[in-house]
Amino acid sequence: MDGKTLAARVREEVADGVRKLGGVGLATVLVGDDPASDIYITLKQKAAREVGMNAVDRRLSAETTQDELLEVVAELNADDAIDGLLVQSPLPSQLDETATIEALDPAKDVDGLHPVSAGLLALGRPRLVGATPLGIMRLLAEYGIDPGGKHAVVVGRSNIVGKPVAQLLLQANATVTICHSRTDDLPRHTLDADILVAATGVLHLISPDMVKMGATVIDVGMNRTEDGLFGDVDPGAMDRAAYMTPVPGGVGPMTIAMVLSNTVRAAELRLGSLALPR
Ligand code: NDP
Repeated sequence: MDGKTLAARVREEVADGVRKLGGVGLATVLVGDDPASDIYITLKQKAAREVGMNAVDRRLSAETTQDELLEVVAELNADDAIDGLLVQSPLPSQLDETATIEALDPAKDVDGLHPVSAGLLALGRPRLVGATPLGIMRLLAEYGIDPGGKHAVVVGRSNIVGKPVAQLLLQANATVTICHSRTDDLPRHTLDADILVAATGVLHLISPDMVKMGATVIDVGMNRTEDGLFGDVDPGAMDRAAYMTPVPGGVGPMTIAMVLSNTVRAAELRLGSLALPR
C-alpha cells in the first residue's frame, strides 16, 4: 500500500482547500530538542508551507515551565489566523501533557487529543480525529478495503493511534479487538485478523507467522535503528498479506498529509461551512 503516492494526492486536495478558503494557519509547538520530534515538526512545517498555509513554528527551550507553555497555547488559541494547533509529544518531564492538551482550544485540536475530540469520536460523532488514524482509514478506502463485518485487530492502545483507530474501525462496522502489552497469547489474536494494525513501537513484534493469509496489514511503527527506519511488522509478512504498508513510505507520509487535511477541516468547522454529524 503506497502511502507516499496517496499522501501526495491528499496534499494537492489540501492545497486546493487552502486556496478556496483564502488562507489557513497551522501552528506547531515543540518544547526541547528531542531529535525525532524535531524531524516530525520540520516535516509538518515544510508540508504546511508547500500547500500554502500560514505555518507558525514555535520552539521553546527544554527548561520551559508549565505556565510558560500554557501562555503560548493561550496565545495561539486566541490568534484568529491559526486554525490548527498541535503540541508535539513527548514533553520534557517537568511538563504536564494532560494539562497541556486540555488547554488547547478543541476547535483547533488537529491531533484529536483533547477530551472533547476524543469524546465525540467515542460517541460516533467525530469532529477532529488524529492524523495517523485518519491516514490509516484513508489508505483502506483507497485500496477498496471495507472494514464492514471484518475482524480488525489493533495492537497498541495509545490515545494518539491505537484507541482512535479502533474507534474509526468500529464506526466502519468492523468487529474490533484491541491488544496491548498485557494481552495473553498475542498471535492467537493477530492470526485471526482480517485487518491488522500494529502500533507498538516494538521492532518487528509481528513476525510473518502471526499474520493470517490474505490479511491487510497496517504497520504504524517507526523504529529508528543504526540500519535505518523499521516498522513493528517483519517485512517477511508481505508474503502472507494481501495488502501491507511499507516502512518507510506507508503510514508516515499519510500522517503528515492528514495533519494538513485536518487543519483545513478545522478552518471549515470554525467558519461554520462544514456540518457535523449529530
Ligand atoms: P505508545 O508507546 O504510546 O503505545 C504503544 C502501545 O503498544 C501501548 O498500548 C503498549 O501497551 C503496546 N505494546 C508495547 N509492547 C507491546 C507488546 N510486546 N505486545 C503488545 N502490545 C505492546 O506508542 P504510540 O501509539 O505513540 O506509537 C506506536 C508506534 O507508532 C511508535 O513506533 C511510534 O513511533 C509510531 N508512530 C508512527 C506514526 C506514523 O505517522 N507512522 C505516528 C504515531 C506513532 P500498554 O498500553 O500495555 O503499555
